[in-house]
Amino acid sequence: MFDSLSDRLGGVFDKLRGRGALKEQDVRDAMREVRIALLEADVALPVVRRFIDQVTEKAIGQSVLRSVTPGQQVVKIVNDAIIEMLGGDVTPELDLNAAPPVVIMMVGLQGSGKTTSTAKIAKLLKEKQGKKAMMASLDVNRPAAQEQLKVLGEQVGVATLPIIPGQQPTEIATRAMQAAKLQAVDVLLLDTAGRLHVDQQLMDEMKAVAEISNPRETLLVVDSLTGQDAVNVAQSFSGQVDLTGVVLTRMDGDARGGAALSMRAVTGKPIKFAGTGEKMEALEVFHPSRVANRILGMGDVVSLVEKAAEAVKVEDAEALAKRMEQGKFDMNDLRMQLKQMQNMGGLGMLAGMMPGMKKAKAAMQASGMDDRVLLRMDAIIGSMTPKERANPALLNAKRKIRVAKGSGTQVQDINKLLKMHMEMSKAMKQIKKMGGLKGLAAMFGK
Ligand code: GDP
Repeated sequence: MFDSLSDRLGGVFDKLRGRGALKEQDVRDAMREVRIALLEADVALPVVRRFIDQVTEKAIGQSVLRSVTPGQQVVKIVNDAIIEMLGGDVTPELDLNAAPPVVIMMVGLQGSGKTTSTAKIAKLLKEKQGKKAMMASLDVNRPAAQEQLKVLGEQVGVATLPIIPGQQPTEIATRAMQAAKLQAVDVLLLDTAGRLHVDQQLMDEMKAVAEISNPRETLLVVDSLTGQDAVNVAQSFSGQVDLTGVVLTRMDGDARGGAALSMRAVTGKPIKFAGTGEKMEALEVFHPSRVANRILGMGDVVSLVEKAAEAVKVEDAEALAKRMEQGKFDMNDLRMQLKQMQNMGGLGMLAGMMPGMKKAKAAMQASGMDDRVLLRMDAIIGSMTPKERANPALLNAKRKIRVAKGSGTQVQDINKLLKMHMEMSKAMKQIKKMGGLKGLAAMFGK
């Protein structure tokens, strides 16, 4: 996600930063390129127009152009405007301030990831906030939808309302409310029926369910891969029901980012969560400033460290952070990282979150890397001597043959691993140059 936009903007920014002085025309040229980049990313046209107008006005002010670092200042103006476009510097939280059972109604089109997101949010509420949650599927249209939620419920350890075949959505909603009250449930999640298109019957059904359950949150689930369509769907829904937020799914895919960037401006509703995979833990709270940092190629180190801290023991995470700050990164660190990648749900997530990780990701992809390869790499590092691990430069041709034999791999596998290690240690050095993790955090205003 955001890869090509990020590349394009990176190019524009490099040009701006590279100049000592800027003229108004330079800024206008740069803004034209930013405009094209946003349009190519599928951001809605009115949103792009407003964005460019605002940024240009600020950026061609004399105080900017006459400053000592005009390029940097323009970049900062764009950065701030992107954060604004994504919803501002606050992280929208779920509002659960109501008498229990607090109801969260999930709405959206079929296939958008509604059922999956319902279970992911239930898991999050249970594990992060210690809430007693319950889920009920009101989807009587799609065969096996209710069964699907039940299976997911079992997976995440959250109760689901027993299925009674033949009941209508409003009947199920009524029954869910009663059950939730009886069982002293804190949060009740209602997974409403999807449709292939927005139609009146669906809207009426949603309204009826809302009347019965009086939801505190009504979250619209949309698929980021559908780009502008996602925004259109959001617009039609928000005209009919009182949405309180958006869950944007498939952010792990190669969507160009338009949906994420236009959603707030077009609907006025905050993106509250981002779905980043099929697994139940693949849900992120949507932090606009962190996502902006990702788009601008600065990496999202804060989320990365948080994820790492969740996946590994605290001591390990601290040790790694310290070594990252020192710009050190040997084979032992790489091995730890590989383990973490497995714990964190594979490779996809890590890439793009760290400054300089794009090159490392490219190196991984070039080596045909998938999660099985993680295990092979672990075996290779296991076959190295402690000295080789601390100082991979020792690995000459002879040593490589020994390690390959020991790990049941080929010398070319060893070379790939060394290449990846080199890219990653470069990324670590970059973090150090930017003032370490603390420096980065300060720069991001965290
Ligand atoms: P629903 O019809 O809206 O309830 O959609 P589902 O929840 O059944 O999701 C449809 C498919 O999308 C399933 O195969 C999910 O595993 C998948 N899915 C949902 N969210 C995500 C996501 O964030 N990323 C990816 N890669 N797949 C997702």
